[in-house]
Amino acid sequence: MGTTTRDTYSYYVEQKALDVTDRPRKFLVAFAAVLEHGNYSSALDIYSRLSTKCGRCASACQLYEATQEERDIPCHRSELLLRVYRRYFTQSGILKARLTRGFILTDDYLDEMADEYYRCTACRRCKAFCPLGIDHGLVTHLARYLLSEIDVIPKALLRCRRSRTPVSFSRKNSRRSMA
Ligand code: SF4
Ligand code: SF4
Repeated sequence: MGTTTRDTYSYYVEQKALDVTDRPRKFLVAFAAVLEHGNYSSALDIYSRLSTKCGRCASACQLYEATQEERDIPCHRSELLLRVYRRYFTQSGILKARLTRGFILTDDYLDEMADEYYRCTACRRCKAFCPLGIDHGLVTHLARYLLSEIDVIPKALLRCRRSRTPVSFSRKNSRRSMA
């Protein structure tokens, strides 16, 4: 039985979340399945190309207003997942990774995502203030779903998990390759 790089999360998760092995690969397999069978690709494609840092989403976010922590800036949080998307699911990211030793999804990175994506309330208020229409709530929903696929999910939400599927897809049919 393997362990992750940490013993606990800031919220209570089932023990199996601490025991899973090979989490980065499992996360990417789930991500590939969502992209192949869901409808997130076009949004992620657009979001991952935009880089305007106007800060309006931060001033609209009640979480950031309360904490004033950089990690609670909406576009900072979304960048965590978009970085994975760029690296593993775009041609330029895959090519760049072959040429240089760039970003690699690790257990530590997944832990950082887990902490940050469960802080956002997914209220989508920030979207209304973004001049580019970037929907950070949508990114948060997707990231949480992918984290739940590696069993990182607050125990209080487990009942919701049993009755949800954010996109309609069958994992066994996933054939999207990962470089
Ligand atoms: S969805 Fe809500 S809590 Fe999350 S970043 Fe946007 S405004 Fe903040
Ligand atoms: S409001 Fe939109 S464009 Fe401005 S920093 Fe936030 S995500 Fe970027």
